[in-house]
Amino acid sequence: MPFVPFCGYYVFVANLQQRLPENVPGDFFVDSTCIDCETCSELAPAIFRDHGDQCSVHHQPETAEEIRLAMMALVACPTGSIGTTERHDPHTGIDAFPMPIDDNVYFCGFTSESSFGAWSYLITRPASEGGNILIDSPRFASQLLKRIEAMGGVSQMLLTHKDDVADHELFRKRFNCERVMHRDDGAARLGVEHVIQGTDPVQLDDDLLIIPTPGHTRGHVVFLYQNKFLFTGDHLAWSPERETLTAFRSVAWYSWPEQTRSMEKLLSYEFQWVLPGHGDIHHGDAQSMHEHLQRCVSWMKAVK
Ligand code: SF4
Repeated sequence: MPFVPFCGYYVFVANLQQRLPENVPGDFFVDSTCIDCETCSELAPAIFRDHGDQCSVHHQPETAEEIRLAMMALVACPTGSIGTTERHDPHTGIDAFPMPIDDNVYFCGFTSESSFGAWSYLITRPASEGGNILIDSPRFASQLLKRIEAMGGVSQMLLTHKDDVADHELFRKRFNCERVMHRDDGAARLGVEHVIQGTDPVQLDDDLLIIPTPGHTRGHVVFLYQNKFLFTGDHLAWSPERETLTAFRSVAWYSWPEQTRSMEKLLSYEFQWVLPGHGDIHHGDAQSMHEHLQRCVSWMKAVK
C-alpha cells in the first residue's frame, strides 16, 4: 500500500495489482489489504458490501452523491485498501469529515488500523460548556487535525475501552486534552489523566454520564450524552440482519454473563442514538430504543 503525496497531502493508495476479483468492473475497487472492518459497507452500503472475509465494490458510483460517499469511504478506510482507476478530487472525501450525525455530534471518519477501523466521534461545545469532546481515537491524520482544530480543538478525550485507543497519545499532545478511561482497561499504564473505577455511573458534567459496562473488556464503559446519544464502543450496536440492537458474543473477551448484566443496566437510561465503535449506528425514539434494548437483553440471556 503506497503512501504518496497528492494535492498537498499524503494519502494511502490501494494497489490496482491487488484488486479483489469480487469487485464489479469499473473505477472504484478494494484491494487485498482489506481487513474487513466494514467501515465502507456501513458508510456507503449502496456501493460496498461485505462478501465474506473482505469487502468489495458491488455497484460503481454513478451520481455525484455516490462518488462523494465512495470517496468518504476511501478516506475513512483504515488500511488504504480502496482505490480508483480514474482521478478524483480527494477533498470530496476529506472535507466531508467530521461528518454531521445530529445536533453537535459528528463521525470523525479517518479510522485507524490499530483499532481495527473503530469509529470515533466528535461532540462540539463552546468552551463555556466544557469544550469539544472526542470519543475514542481516529487516525492522527493531518487533514482531520486541521478540521478538528478549526472546529475548536479537543478538550477531553473519552475512551470506551482499551482496543479503540489508537492514536490517543498523539491527540493528547496535539490538543493538550484530558483523557478519561476506566482503570480496569489499563488507564494508568496508558498515562490517562482522569481514571475512573468501580461499576457505579460517573457524572462527568451536566450533559455527560459515564456508565461502566464490563463484558467486552473488564474496563469497558459507555458514554451517555444529553440522554440522547449513547456512545457504545464494542458493547452494543445495531444488527441490520436481525433489525434490532445486538452485542458481539464472539468478542466478549472478559465475560458474556457480565456483559449481559451490563446491558440490563442500560435499561434504566433513555437514549435515541446508538453510536458504536464497531457495528452499525441506529437512531429511533426513546421508546423504540428501549424495546430494542429489552430484546437484546433477552437474546443475550438465551445465548450461552
Ligand atoms: S473500510 Fe477498508 S479495510 Fe474496512 S472493510 Fe472497507 S476496504 Fe476493507
